[in-house]
Amino acid sequence: MSDLSTHNIMYLPGVGPKKAEILKKELKIVSFEDLLYHFPYRYVDRSRIFQIREIKGDMPYIQVKGKVTSLRMVGEGRGKRMTGTFSDGTGILELVWFKGLKYLKEQIKPDETYILFGKPSRFNNTINVVHPELDKEQTRKVPFFAGLQPFYNTTEKMKNSYLGSRAIFKMVQNVFQSYNSVIPETLPAAIIERMKLMNLNQALRNIHMPPEADTLRKASFRLKFEELFYIQLNILRLRNQRTFNQKGHVFAKVGSFFNQFYSQNLPFELTNAQKRVIKEIRRDMGSGHQMNRLLQGDVGSGKTLVALMIMLIAIDNNYQACIMAPTEILATQHFESISQMLEGINIQVGLLTGSTKKTQRDKLHTALQTGELNILIGTHALIEDTVRFHNLGLVVIDEQHRFGVAQRARLWKKNLTPPHVLVMTATPIPRTLAMTTYGDLDVSVIDELPPGRKPVETTHTYHNKRLGINKFVKQQIDAGRQIYVVYPLIEESEKMDFQNLTDGFEYIREAFPNNKVSMVHGKMKPTEKDAAMQEFASGKSQILVSTTVIEVGVNVPNASVMIIESAERFGLSQLHQLRGRVGRGADQSYCILMTGYKLSSETRQRMEIMTNTNDGFEIAEADMKLRGPGDLEGTQQSGLPFELKIANLAKDTRILQMARNMAHDVLKEDPLLETQANSILRRQLKKLAQQKMNWAMIS
Ligand code: ADP
Ligand code: MG
Repeated sequence: MSDLSTHNIMYLPGVGPKKAEILKKELKIVSFEDLLYHFPYRYVDRSRIFQIREIKGDMPYIQVKGKVTSLRMVGEGRGKRMTGTFSDGTGILELVWFKGLKYLKEQIKPDETYILFGKPSRFNNTINVVHPELDKEQTRKVPFFAGLQPFYNTTEKMKNSYLGSRAIFKMVQNVFQSYNSVIPETLPAAIIERMKLMNLNQALRNIHMPPEADTLRKASFRLKFEELFYIQLNILRLRNQRTFNQKGHVFAKVGSFFNQFYSQNLPFELTNAQKRVIKEIRRDMGSGHQMNRLLQGDVGSGKTLVALMIMLIAIDNNYQACIMAPTEILATQHFESISQMLEGINIQVGLLTGSTKKTQRDKLHTALQTGELNILIGTHALIEDTVRFHNLGLVVIDEQHRFGVAQRARLWKKNLTPPHVLVMTATPIPRTLAMTTYGDLDVSVIDELPPGRKPVETTHTYHNKRLGINKFVKQQIDAGRQIYVVYPLIEESEKMDFQNLTDGFEYIREAFPNNKVSMVHGKMKPTEKDAAMQEFASGKSQILVSTTVIEVGVNVPNASVMIIESAERFGLSQLHQLRGRVGRGADQSYCILMTGYKLSSETRQRMEIMTNTNDGFEIAEADMKLRGPGDLEGTQQSGLPFELKIANLAKDTRILQMARNMAHDVLKEDPLLETQANSILRRQLKKLAQQKMNWAMIS
C-alpha cells in the first residue's frame, strides 16, 4: 500500500517541475495527497441543459446545446475582440471574446454541436455571454459534464500558467487514474460505522466528482466530521493530560485577607453568579492541578471583583498574583479600583505599564522578587523577561480576546510550577469557536448582572438628526449624567478619522458651551490621556469625546449616554463593548448609533441586532454568522491556530458537536489511545501535528 503523501505532484502526467513549483508556491501543494485535499469551493450543476428562450440575464450561469452560427473579428489594437452568435433553434445568444482570439477562431467549427457554458448578462434586448466555455458534444466526459462541476481556488499566477480551475480538476482526475490502490482509511472502523460515514476513498472521489447533490453532501459530511473530530480529539486529550499530570499550587485555605475583605470591605452583596464562579475557581485552585479557566461574563457583570477575591485567596496561601490588561487606561483603572477596595487591608499592589518610569520600575522589580509586593497589575509590560516574581501563584488575564495565545503562554512560564490561570472575557465567544480555540479550558460563566441595572436602550439614527440628539444630551447632563461620544479611528484612514475626531470635539464644545468636554485618543501621551480620563471619571467634565481607546473595561457608572459616530464602521462586538461603557449605574442608560443614510444590508442587520438585544452571546453568534469566524473580532489576534480546509465554524455547529461527543467517548474508553483499534487515531494525530496544524498553539 503506497501512501498518497509520498507521491510527488511533479510526476503526475501533465505537471512537471515548472508547474509543480507554482503549485507549491501558490497553494502549498506538493504531493498527490495535498492535491486531493485541495477541495472545490463551489459546484455548479451541469446536469441541466437550458433552452435559449428560457434564459434570463440574472441567472448565475447557463448551459445550452447548439451551434456557433457566426464569428466576426471587430475593432483594432486594444479594442480588438471576436463576436459570435450561438443558436439552439429556440433563440440566439451573443458571444464575445477578448483573449486568445486567433486560436479560438481556428478551433471553433460551424457544423459542430457544442455544449456552451457561461454567465449570461442582458444587454438591450440580447443575452450576452463573455468568454463562454465551448465543449464538443461528442467528447463530453462523464462525470465532468454530467453532474456537478467543481470549482477550485486558483491564483492569478496559476491562471497565467494554465493552472485554472479546470486544469486542477484534470489533475485530480489524473491522480485517481494513476493511483491504483485504495486510499487508506484515516478513521477507525467503529467510528465510521457508528456515524454511518462514507469511507475516505469514496469521500475524496465524491468531493471532487460528485454525480449529484446527495452524494456530495455525504462526502462533505464525512470530511468535515473528520476534520473537526481530530481537532476535538487533540484538545480533549491535552486537557486530560493536563488534568492528570500538570501539578498545580494547592491553595488549601481561605484565610484572613479574603475573610477581612468579605466582612469589612465588600461594597455590595455578590450576585449568585459571582458566588458560583468563585466557588468553581476555588475548587480548581485547591485541587492540586493547575487551573486553566475561562471566565465569560457580559460587560458590567462584575468580573473584576471576582478576580480580586480569588487573588486574595492566592495571597492567603502565600503566593503572589497578577492581572494583565490590554490597555494602559484599563490597567490604571484596575489599579485604582483595586487599591481602593483593599483600603485598610495590608496588601501591597503595584502598577506596571509601558510608561512606568525607570526608578519606579526598578522598585517594583525588587519588591516583586523579594515577595513584598502581593499583587501586580499591568499591561503587556508584565510579560517582559525582566519581570520576575518571588512566587507567582495566580495569573488573571483581562479581556483575553485582546491577547495572543503566545502571550498567555509566556505568563505561564513565570513560575517553575505554572501558576493558575484565569482568563476573563466580555466578548462572548460563540460556543463553537470556544470549543475549538479554547476547547481545553474550563469555562465559568457569569450569567447575571448586578441587581438594579436597567438594560441599555439602544436606538439607531442618522447624522442629520443631530440637533434632536443634542437636546436629549442636554437633558441628561442637566439631570447630572455624563456622555460618551465615540469616533472610529481606523489605521488606513487615520488622518481623516483624526480630523473627524477633532472636528467633532470642536462641534461639541460649541454646542455645549456651558459644559466641560474632554477628549482622549491613542496618540496622546499617557499622562495626558490619564488626565483627560480622570477629568471625566471624577465628574469634572460632562462629555468625553474619544476613539475606541475606551472600548474595553472603562468604568464610569455615572455616564448614561453612549453616542457612537459612524457606527457603520464598527463591528458588532465592538459596538457591544462600547455600549457596555454605559448602563453601569442605577440610571436608565442610552446608546445612540449614528450612521449615514446609505447603508449596506449587512450594516442594517448589524444596527438591527444592536437595537434588538443586549445579550452579548446572541450578538457574538450573529456576528459570526454575518462575518464568518476568520474575521471575528478578537480572534484575529489570538487567531485560529490552524486553517480549516472544509469545515466552517459558523455553519457546521451540529457536526462540531457530534465530533466533540465522539472524541469524548473515544477518550473515555481509551484515554491514552492505546488499543489496537485506536492505533489509527494515534498515527493520524501524529501526522497532523507534523503537517498541518501547530497543535501546541492551542493549549
Ligand atoms: P466587567 O465584568 O465588565 O469587568 P466590572 O467588574 O467593571 O465589570 O463591574 C462593573 C460594575 O459593577 C463596577 O462598577 C462594579 O463595582 C459593579 N459591581 C460588581 N459586582 C457587583 C455586585 N455584586 N453588585 C453591585 N455592583 C457590582
Ligand atoms: Mg472588565
